[in-house]
Amino acid sequence: MNQTAIARSWVEHANDHGDFPLQNLPLGIFSRPGEARRCGVAIGDAILDLETVLAAGLLDGPARTAVEATRGGALNDFFALGRGPRMALRERLQVLLGEHSEHQAELKAALHPASECQMHLPARVGDYTDFYVGIQHATNVGKLFRPDSPLLPNYKYVPIGYHGRASTLRPSGTEVRRPNGQTLPAGHTEPVFGPCAKLDYELELGIWIGQGNEMGDSIPVAEAGEHIAGLCLLNDWSARDIQAWEYQPLGPFLSKSFITSVSPWVVTAEALAPFRCAQPARAEGDPQPLAYLFDADDQASGAFDIELEVLLWTARMRDEGLPAHCLTLSNSRSMYWTAAQLVAHHSVNGCQLQPGDLFGSGTLSGEGPGSFGSLLEITEGGKQPVHLSSGEVRTFLQDGDEIILRARCTREGVASIGFGECRGTVRAAR
Ligand code: MN
Repeated sequence: MNQTAIARSWVEHANDHGDFPLQNLPLGIFSRPGEARRCGVAIGDAILDLETVLAAGLLDGPARTAVEATRGGALNDFFALGRGPRMALRERLQVLLGEHSEHQAELKAALHPASECQMHLPARVGDYTDFYVGIQHATNVGKLFRPDSPLLPNYKYVPIGYHGRASTLRPSGTEVRRPNGQTLPAGHTEPVFGPCAKLDYELELGIWIGQGNEMGDSIPVAEAGEHIAGLCLLNDWSARDIQAWEYQPLGPFLSKSFITSVSPWVVTAEALAPFRCAQPARAEGDPQPLAYLFDADDQASGAFDIELEVLLWTARMRDEGLPAHCLTLSNSRSMYWTAAQLVAHHSVNGCQLQPGDLFGSGTLSGEGPGSFGSLLEITEGGKQPVHLSSGEVRTFLQDGDEIILRARCTREGVASIGFGECRGTVRAAR
């Protein structure tokens, strides 16, 4: 790899940083103790306060417009501006933070250690939709119920999804209170009420919607990529026992709506551009997408090559100073539909998408053991306990367990970038 081709920053800890080098520059909403929420950009182990950069007179034109749109402690208005101002801000910040910057002294005053800042949700989410486009996950889960025909007939025609609950989206680090609910324990004929006994995680990507559409209009698939502002990690915490009892005929309800965790940094479409790839070919015999879901350019470069990881850190591991146990290594190429296809499908009936809406991809599992994105799959519904590096075993999550999602993009010849973490620790039911 030709290292000299990779631009460097005068912020030394950003160079070769696992997540946030100069090439990433994800946006988020942060606050310092006692201060209001504002927009920042992650650079190495620091956060660059864009309000301070603006006040120093270092931004003008569309880059200035972009930062002005972040005021109010949410990125919705910034997302609504679309790609132009977002790119202008990115290009300006790469100059300001680049190793030849003439403004290092002013910018140093705008840098805060990330460890001293609190991260918040990036946007006020009007609507959250969870899809189900990880085909390996859908196959694995389907097999538990229908070994002979795991995928229902619509799966390869329709990007399956349901309307989730925006009010309980929370940033990484928010504790996960074990939900109470109705379940039908094995051997019972009537349900019982109490704490969920089968608490699970789901490894997903989050898709942040940029510019939306008017109600009644739809977004053509060829233009849909323009409506995606960026990506994050998303943990769709799931109460499997509540889900099993409630989900028919209309799908998940209270088994999902108690909390959904997201990583706080929006990794922009521009930062992800080097890691786009062709949508994997459909299996022999699979139908072609209907015309409104098919675009040749989207098929050629609309997928993402993102490595995904899930770690479990139990209370005992923390107490004994042991590292977290890796449960899952997976990749976003397991999406059967591209992000643009999700946008096109969601709006094809005239449904309005708005800036700051959030999509979940669905659980992104790989093909083999070690790549499954939920305990439901890893333990085959709780039948095969997973043995942890600490000597503990799990079928589902216990109180005190922390789940950590990570994501990373690597490609020969370009700087690697990451998403930061999406963490959550399970607390006892109330
Ligand atoms: Mn899900």
